[in-house]
Amino acid sequence: MSQNQPKKILVAGGGGFIGGHLAGSLLAQGHEVVVADVKQLDKWYQVHEGAQNHVVNLEEKEACYTVMEGCDEVYNLACNMGGMGFIEFNRALCMISVLINTHLLMAARDQGVKGFFYASSACVYPDYRQDDADVMALKESDAYPAQPEDGYGWEKLFSERMCQNFREDFGSNVRVFRFHNVYGPFGTWTGGREKAPAALCRKVIEAVDTGNHDIEIWGDGEQTRSFMYIDDCLSGMARLMESSYTDPLNLGRAELVSINGLLDIIEGIAGITLKRNYDLSKPQGVRGRNSDNALIQSTLGWEPEVNLATGLEKTYRWIEEQYERRKRGEIVVD
Ligand code: NAD
Repeated sequence: MSQNQPKKILVAGGGGFIGGHLAGSLLAQGHEVVVADVKQLDKWYQVHEGAQNHVVNLEEKEACYTVMEGCDEVYNLACNMGGMGFIEFNRALCMISVLINTHLLMAARDQGVKGFFYASSACVYPDYRQDDADVMALKESDAYPAQPEDGYGWEKLFSERMCQNFREDFGSNVRVFRFHNVYGPFGTWTGGREKAPAALCRKVIEAVDTGNHDIEIWGDGEQTRSFMYIDDCLSGMARLMESSYTDPLNLGRAELVSINGLLDIIEGIAGITLKRNYDLSKPQGVRGRNSDNALIQSTLGWEPEVNLATGLEKTYRWIEEQYERRKRGEIVVD
């Protein structure tokens, strides 16, 4: 699937964080871009003037067929999701997103779409491989025997398999990445769906602003993760679409950090040290998770490269700007 010729491309979920960045990048490359999202336009992180923007519910089959008309490629980044605070308490809502990928796959098959991308997640990996903070990085084959995150992880694993089955039975040209936590500007930073990097940036900004130097951490702060900056996510997707690799592949940065370590970096950016209060009753997810990048290295000859300090600086500054704008009474997307 060459990225060089101009194509008509659907970005499903393009009102969201990753989809908004992807739509901008595809437009900059000269493609015709159709963006579809269920949220009203004023809730989109980025609205690109040059794209055809549609507010539609992609759980509905007809909507998928309509917005995909004439498209050469489809990127499915649409789903009902959030950080641990959201997915642990909204399992059924997460499962319903299976309708989005199912109907998009059917429309792509019936309309002769040449390339289909599905955004899976590291939440497909079994809990039993992630119960130690000192983790063995997860390789793709570790997804089985399956015991993913209840709700969200099962939906992702099922949808991955459906992509695989569509490829085998109908010849659909699918690509699947298992994203490990992605962060960056123009994403959820408040309101309950935000993930750790954005949540901690916001809490530190609040502490700087209010002078209240206590900070609440979910769990004991020793749980570990890896975090990938949005630029690496876009770069990875472009490389995967160019490649002929069709099985699910990790896309994550292999720089393991504890939540305490993440906060250390953010405190360094803000030039502040806060008093940490650990709330063990809050959702923490798995104990440790990292991405094994051997397969992406051997298939794409590349792996995510932006280090945390660089990516967090940019993310912190963007959230700080949103925080200031909201304080001035301006309407900002959360
Ligand atoms: P996001 O929540 O910012 O974007 C998802 C978008 O999908 C939202 O704008 C939402 O309104 C839209 N959507 C939800 N239901 C819809 C529907 N019925 N019809 C149309 N649009 C609908 O999330 P994101 O961080 O941009 O994630 C994009 C994809 O990547 C998702 O599939 C997510 O599971 C996956 N992923 C993200 C991360 C991460 O760290 N951000 C990690 C792993 C996987």
